[in-house]
Amino acid sequence: MKLTVLGGSGAWPTATAACSGYLVRHEDTTILIDPGYAVFPRLLEECRAGDVDAVLITHGHPDHCADLNPLLRARVLGAERPPVLPVWAPEGSLQRILDLDPVRVVRRGMELNTLADGASIRIGPVRVRARGLPHHVTNLGFRLEADGDVLAYTGDSGDCAARIELARDADVYLAEATYVDQVPAGDAPYLCTVRQVARQSSIARPQVTVLTHLWPDASSDHALATARAEGLDNVQLAKPGLTIDLGRIGVASLPRRAAGEQVPAGAITALPRRARRI
Ligand SMILES: [Zn+2]
Repeated sequence: MKLTVLGGSGAWPTATAACSGYLVRHEDTTILIDPGYAVFPRLLEECRAGDVDAVLITHGHPDHCADLNPLLRARVLGAERPPVLPVWAPEGSLQRILDLDPVRVVRRGMELNTLADGASIRIGPVRVRARGLPHHVTNLGFRLEADGDVLAYTGDSGDCAARIELARDADVYLAEATYVDQVPAGDAPYLCTVRQVARQSSIARPQVTVLTHLWPDASSDHALATARAEGLDNVQLAKPGLTIDLGRIGVASLPRRAAGEQVPAGAITALPRRARRI
């Protein structure tokens, strides 16, 4: 299973980073998770709109689902005319996005399925389990498994034991960390810090932790330095272009670089594959 980060900017996109958006590919199946603001143009750098086989959405905040609209427009109105797109999301979470267009424009291009806490579905060769995690609105974390590869993704949520269970022994723990040191008091039950994610990973022991949804004006360097100071060694930031082949952790896990740009020493770590729980 291969993960490609399309964007990981929290709340709003920047000139160089889309909001949450992740492409998961395994064999001939392509799954798009959380088409947030500005994810669609980045998706088109990876594949055609019609190449997406299914969409998973953690929750209805627009930085996680707004670009479902242009994806559906391209599929319905473009010349390609791919099959109807299965979309999985918490009940009622996409109403506002779908209301952007008349029913005939986008809804005929999708088959909307409701997901809830504890649900388990299969998309081609990929099994997906949904886990409810605390956020301002209903939010589902996803655990994707295929051929022994495991990807755990939180969506947005507060610090809780369920996040640790979601991430336990995963190859990649794609973890929302909106803040570095502290979540403002009112949001504390619903969002996490880098420090909290480091503690979760110390218990769940994923191979690699990928920090995502960092506030756009926060310092990436400070976030990474804090994670490492908290004992998180195998950590990355969810930058556009970051690709991780879960079957070959660490071998191809760097963001795309400009021609001639040097890869820093020590940036690539080849990790032995751990024995798996059965
Ligand atoms: Zn959110």
